[in-house]
Amino acid sequence: MKNKYMKVLSGICVMPLLTACGNRADTMQSADLFAMDTYMSIKACGPEADAALAEAEAKIRVLEQTFSVTDEASDIGKINRADGQPVAVSADTVSVLQTAQKMNRESGGALCISLYPVLRAWGFTTGEYRIPAADEIKALLRNADDTQIFAEGRTVRCPADTEIDLGAVAKGYTGDAVMEIMQAHGISSAIINLGGNVQTRGSRPDGTAWTVGITDPFAPDSLIGTVSVTDRAVITSGNYERYFTGEDGRRYWHILDPADGCPADNGLVSVTVIGGSGAECDALSTALFVEGTQQAAEHWRRSGDFEMILVTSDGELLLTEGIAADYTAKKEMPCRVVQRDEKP
Ligand code: ADP
Ligand code: MG
Repeated sequence: MKNKYMKVLSGICVMPLLTACGNRADTMQSADLFAMDTYMSIKACGPEADAALAEAEAKIRVLEQTFSVTDEASDIGKINRADGQPVAVSADTVSVLQTAQKMNRESGGALCISLYPVLRAWGFTTGEYRIPAADEIKALLRNADDTQIFAEGRTVRCPADTEIDLGAVAKGYTGDAVMEIMQAHGISSAIINLGGNVQTRGSRPDGTAWTVGITDPFAPDSLIGTVSVTDRAVITSGNYERYFTGEDGRRYWHILDPADGCPADNGLVSVTVIGGSGAECDALSTALFVEGTQQAAEHWRRSGDFEMILVTSDGELLLTEGIAADYTAKKEMPCRVVQRDEKP
């Protein structure tokens, strides 16, 4: 009688593991950490999951140090203090800079990593928020020009008065590095969340697609919907992520428009990009947010290698046609599917 009871119990305990991943060695392993100023979680399934997670965490720590804008000894710290001289940096830094520069070109300058002094003037680098005077912004914008940054081989050169920060692309690049580690360890099923940047490898252990929530920019504790993906990055930029309310009662957020050095206010409050590369999706989400509703749609039509979910400042949801079927609404809101051959 006792044995039988034990068997039933162990059956109940083992079942979820079996359905999750096949056998005990293959259960979903996870790691949580705080890095790059945000909470991160990594989940992986496979015989080498433990080793993959440890290696991923180590790589995140290395990239955190390499890309840190506050650490004077980091690659970015050295570039910002080099006074126009060439600086020897890691291959990761050159690679992430090249992605940022490509996006700067493809977005007509909307993604601009050399806005750092302007971000500092607004207090977004310290949390000591203020509204800078128009003249102050204008003077700082003169040195914000990504086309003057040269990244080749293992060397970067940046003009003396220009300072860069990788806030718009570092997490997506880091996600790609983690996914490479997963691949090297034969992991066929993984999901990572680096401060709201979600990246997936393969499908869930049971073969179904991953479900990723899309935050409601008007009520960030809740979702407007979910999207089903396999092998995709789902990366969002929104005006609700970091902001302050000025003495004038207006909200000022952390994504700036290089055209005027002020929070980008071109009709969008949230941009989610779904695509294959984390670095590109991260760069794109920031760029498209700045580009605004019309230009983001045009950018999507030109490109063809990503999909997007936009929320406009007047509360409309826009889905590109390649992702519409994978989207499940959780909230009712006016919705339109953006077609590739539609005339703007
Ligand atoms: P988050 O880091 O909140 O996920 P983003 O990927 O959109 O969001 O990156 C926003 C960060 O990028 C800002 O905190 C700032 O450091 C930097 N940034 C702000 N505006 C721009 C811009 N136009 N181009 C490039 N980087 C920007
Ligand atoms: Mg981004």
